[in-house]
Amino acid sequence: MFLLKIESPRLERLLEHTAELKEMSVERFAKLAFVKGLRKIAESAKPETKTSKAIKEYILAHWESKTDIQMGRVLGYSFVYIQRIRLRMGLKRKKGPDTERDLAATPVTDLPLTSTEKRRKKYEALDPLIREHWQTKDDWEIGRLLDPVVDGTTVRLRRYKLDLKRKKGEKSAAREGLRILDQIDGLEFERMVLREGYTMTDYLKFKDLRCSRERLRQVAEQLGLKHSPEDREPSWLLMRKARELGNFNLANREWLTEKIAQYQSMATLAAELKIREPGLYFFIRSFKLFHPSFRKHGAETVNLMCTKCGKGFVRLKRWVDKPMQKTNGRAQEFFCSQSCSGQWNRERTRKGIEESSAKQLAWNQARLEKKERYAAYIREHWQNQSDVQMALALNLSESFLTKKRLELGLRRA
Ligand SMILES: [Zn+2]
Repeated sequence: MFLLKIESPRLERLLEHTAELKEMSVERFAKLAFVKGLRKIAESAKPETKTSKAIKEYILAHWESKTDIQMGRVLGYSFVYIQRIRLRMGLKRKKGPDTERDLAATPVTDLPLTSTEKRRKKYEALDPLIREHWQTKDDWEIGRLLDPVVDGTTVRLRRYKLDLKRKKGEKSAAREGLRILDQIDGLEFERMVLREGYTMTDYLKFKDLRCSRERLRQVAEQLGLKHSPEDREPSWLLMRKARELGNFNLANREWLTEKIAQYQSMATLAAELKIREPGLYFFIRSFKLFHPSFRKHGAETVNLMCTKCGKGFVRLKRWVDKPMQKTNGRAQEFFCSQSCSGQWNRERTRKGIEESSAKQLAWNQARLEKKERYAAYIREHWQNQSDVQMALALNLSESFLTKKRLELGLRRA
């Protein structure tokens, strides 16, 4: 293009000196400096875009009261980007880890909270509670004092953070003296667990007991309380269903009989009771109630035999057809009552467990015998046969045989 001549001894000296520092030839360095300088000038001459101007204005106005994270959230940029611009503008914060946090602690109500802020807020409420109650209440109880509730594990972890550790084996005062045994009212227990449709797990929850179901079972045994599913009265399932559906009247035979008589269609009655039809039919079937509308659907009945007790019983055909369709006509098991069906299922489960454990036992036995056989052979022959020979005789791999031999402590010299 054209030649550039520098006619300044001072500039020439500076050029030479800097090129030497950079370990470059003067010509190459001069070219580089020229290009770099040009670029810089061109960049600064570029008109500022609208957005970058707005961002800078916002940062200038807020950098002292808001964190980069908060500004970034308002502007829709990452805090890294905001931080870079802020630093480029020469707005430096005081060094120290607390600055960002101090800023964040000043409430900025128009912004959604970050998860860190939320956590801090939670702990602000939790920490004093832990400090006050950790010696008298357990972690779950402390957690429940908060709104929203915090689970016990969180409380425990926080308590450890605060270095409020209980001595090993030491129990909270709340637990101490309040043995499960003392917290159970036998009459109430049997009423709930045998008649009112509560399971043991439900009972634990209802009484707010903190022990396992198995522990409760042991305690019930100790107290001589009946608790097993076999002991449940017929009303148990009815009460349970009724509670699920939110209407205890359903478990009352007289009430339901009267209701059914009042209605033309069971669909209407179900709708009136705000329950689904199968729910209503569960009670109708259990009480063996009758309604003229049943005939319309073809009140064909079938004679069935109970799989459990072998008693014959009658059931509406469509109640039999439905499960038949589901299983593609495979043989079905029918039970005369809920208790028969329950007992059958429990027996089957138990049998399944016994069978599989018997299989496991036989398998272990066979393995042990095999191992013994190998050991006996190796002990007898290891001194006059090589591992290869023994492996061949036992139909094993050589490496496996060597391993076995070493396991037996038979080392060759
Ligand atoms: Zn039966």
